Amino acid sequence: MGPRRLIRIGIIGGGPKGLFTYLRIAHLAKKNPSFRVRVTIFEPQNKIGWGIAYNTKQPAFLLMNYCNFHINFNDFLIEVGLASLKSYKDYIQSKYNCSVPEFNRAFSPRSYVGEYLNYLFEEGMRLSSENLQTDMVKEVANEIKTSETGYAISTVSKKIINVDKICLTTGHGSSINQPALIYPISKILNTDLSGKIVRCKGIGLTFIDFVIASTEGKGGIYDLKNDNYISSGKEPKMIVPYSRTNLPMMPRLSTILPHDFYPWKIGNAINYILTEIKSDSQVSFLDEILPLIQDEMRFHYYRALLKDYGKIIPYSISEDHLESEISNFHKAHDVTAFSFYDLLFPHLTNNKKFIVEEYLEELFSHASMGFSSHFVSAISVIRYIGPMINDLLLTSSMDQKSIDEFDRVWKSAFQRIAYGPPLINFKKLLIATRAGLVSWKSDLENYDVSFDCRITTTACKNDMPYESLILNKLAISSGTNIDASRVNYLEIDNKGHIRNDNLSINDDILTYGIPAGAKTYNNDTLSPSYNNFTSNWLKKIFK
Ligand SMILES: Cc1cc2nc3c(=O)[nH]c(=O)nc-3n(C[C@H](O)[C@H](O)[C@H](O)COP(=O)(O)OP(=O)(O)OC[C@H]3O[C@@H](n4cnc5c(N)ncnc54)[C@H](O)[C@@H]3O)c2cc1C
Repeated sequence: MGPRRLIRIGIIGGGPKGLFTYLRIAHLAKKNPSFRVRVTIFEPQNKIGWGIAYNTKQPAFLLMNYCNFHINFNDFLIEVGLASLKSYKDYIQSKYNCSVPEFNRAFSPRSYVGEYLNYLFEEGMRLSSENLQTDMVKEVANEIKTSETGYAISTVSKKIINVDKICLTTGHGSSINQPALIYPISKILNTDLSGKIVRCKGIGLTFIDFVIASTEGKGGIYDLKNDNYISSGKEPKMIVPYSRTNLPMMPRLSTILPHDFYPWKIGNAINYILTEIKSDSQVSFLDEILPLIQDEMRFHYYRALLKDYGKIIPYSISEDHLESEISNFHKAHDVTAFSFYDLLFPHLTNNKKFIVEEYLEELFSHASMGFSSHFVSAISVIRYIGPMINDLLLTSSMDQKSIDEFDRVWKSAFQRIAYGPPLINFKKLLIATRAGLVSWKSDLENYDVSFDCRITTTACKNDMPYESLILNKLAISSGTNIDASRVNYLEIDNKGHIRNDNLSINDDILTYGIPAGAKTYNNDTLSPSYNNFTSNWLKKIFK
């Protein structure tokens, strides 16, 4: 037998996606004993698998925004030959004392998920074959250069590791090179904010984490039964959030879609675009996709609403019949008609002055009803159209103007209504607002309170990971839009490979997760299978 071929792979970022990549490599190494494999994982945090959101040291009140039902790695464990490992449910069962349906409906603390992800890493490494060497570099990688034998990855402390292939799983970036990130949350828990007025930029999931960490995390108690907050005296005097729209995210009682909730017409329509429309004729998001989304939401709005009045709208209903049902319904009942723009941009379309505090109450009452709310039914459509938009992006089916428009307006609007926090954490935000701890001032310009500190809780910008990761002479960081790439993302092809300066594909370097944003629309980003670019990439490497 001749010498075994050496493959050196660098994984930059040891969050969930870095972990999935590692376990896939370990599996292939085991299946291909004729290779010697050396994997180097660059990750400044102590543990692999945690990433930004799942640090096990964070308090249990920081929750997943998906229920346990969706945390399922079973197929992935089969894929990577680790079916003998415990499922998420079995691993954390001891922490729950409840029936399976109750477990499925619950929202786990993110620290539980982190524990499980790290368990997968430790076990995956322990069970790996002798031909796999795993090295960890607990630092931020900040440069990649071509070298004589492949690529040289250097770190902040000037350590240089030579590799042949690189997987970029830098996710939301690293809190070390982005000190503005509030994670790990210990940064907030260990900072004295008592009596301070904090101006907070960004009103997404991270903002809610911040509010809870700086109240409950400082010893305050949310009395959820009596809608009351009992102060510890250590919380900020006031948190003043602001964002582009000043609109909070919509909460969710459950993220499990009912069994009778599925696409009406949009699935077939988008399928037609994907399969029948010729590759040289791209579609317009505004003219062709958005009307489909509006119709779909309208259908589900009235399907839920009319059900309350004893009328069943079947999925097979014709458009004309639906229209006549809607028109008859409104003639007989004084109920608010469906308005797509009111749902997405209530601050722009309401006739009366828009008051965020009132809107929070309204959102809470809708979400508390779960899927029996026609409002919740309509917005849940955005959940199942996510993978369809993803397919349109991956296949470059939308024109460039549409992609820009989608990035600029619709992506965050959809995110806000469809991927919000669990109801319980939203309720804490509501109670903090009622207690005067959170003040929703939309006209900050005219707001004459001085702030003691400023916190950024916006999601990381798409280009953020690359501020510290200079892909010297390897990739274009932004701007030259070809085949529907998107501004501020790395140029990649639809398999996740980066492009060289001359736009040729460089399949030595793969993006997976958030760095693959130029071609993907990723929401359920904990999933190992969604936009899984790594499996095929690795299979080719091990050929
Ligand atoms: C508040 C909150 C709640 C969320 N809830 C959910 C949920 O319920 N379900 C869900 O699916 N998703 C959720 N998410 C999204 C979540 O971020 C993803 O599930 C997941 O973390 C993405 O994994 P990742 O590996 O791509 O990125 P990350 O988790 O961001 O991990 C990237 C890792 O790369 C490291 N890194 C970055 N740059 C470098 C570098 N240059 N060198 C070395 N290391 C580097 C970082 O330290 C980090 O550990 C939530 C996110 C937040 C913020």
